[in-house]
Amino acid sequence: MSAVHALQTRGLGISFGAFHAVADVDLTLEPGARQALIGPNGAGKTTLINLLTGVYRPTAGSIRMGDQDITALSCDQRARLGLARTFQINTLFPSLTPLLSVVLAISEREGLAATWWRPLKRCTQVFDEAHALLVRLRLDDLANVPVAQLAYGKQRLLEIALALAARPRILLLDEPAAGVPEDESGELFEVIADLPKDISILFIEHDMNLVFRFSRRISVLVAGRILTEGAPAEIGSDPRVREVYLGN
Ligand code: ADP
Repeated sequence: MSAVHALQTRGLGISFGAFHAVADVDLTLEPGARQALIGPNGAGKTTLINLLTGVYRPTAGSIRMGDQDITALSCDQRARLGLARTFQINTLFPSLTPLLSVVLAISEREGLAATWWRPLKRCTQVFDEAHALLVRLRLDDLANVPVAQLAYGKQRLLEIALALAARPRILLLDEPAAGVPEDESGELFEVIADLPKDISILFIEHDMNLVFRFSRRISVLVAGRILTEGAPAEIGSDPRVREVYLGN
């Protein structure tokens, strides 16, 4: 029996009219993966993430999460199975603190719209879990600072904390370090790489230094198709990849 992959696509594709934005993609994410999705602008990376999360319906192929076919499931259904994503855009409430932001995200997961009216014990558990998440994301010393006052890199970390509040098995990150100053992006990726190994992670990233430092596998997407996949050392020395990036 073959091992169960965290996520696997077969022949996945989507066309907009006659344009094949993503075509014939076989992508595998192993349990505990720290996998980068790279490729030039317009290669189809965000479109592929949108297919995985259910924002777009494929015009070809299939997606499996573990041993379950999720191709026909909605975004919400996939999220409930443990598929989480963060977005390129900032989706935080500027006046909330990180602690309250995470408490609300956990409450949402638990269906605790009225957390405040629940027994104190449950409320304490939610705050404890939120605090533990902030520690993991290295945000605990900023737990009570309004989001608007956080450095941009810390805001991006909080976005990841909110995604983690859903207790996902798979985390898809679309350029988590976009807009983050260079001196903060290394720490951001350190935190991502150190997340528990029962979370499989696929991230889009343009900065090759970060990709080579923090991924254990790289998938290269060019014109909607997987050009090649492999360990960072293999990808770094692949002449086809160099050609795509350096144009020689
Ligand atoms: P990347 O993330 O690699 O920069 P994208 O996935 O954003 O690339 O885009 C891939 C291509 O698909 C682009 O040419 C884009 O214009 C096209 N595309 C994405 N979404 C749509 C859509 N809803 N309708 C038409 N074209 C789209």
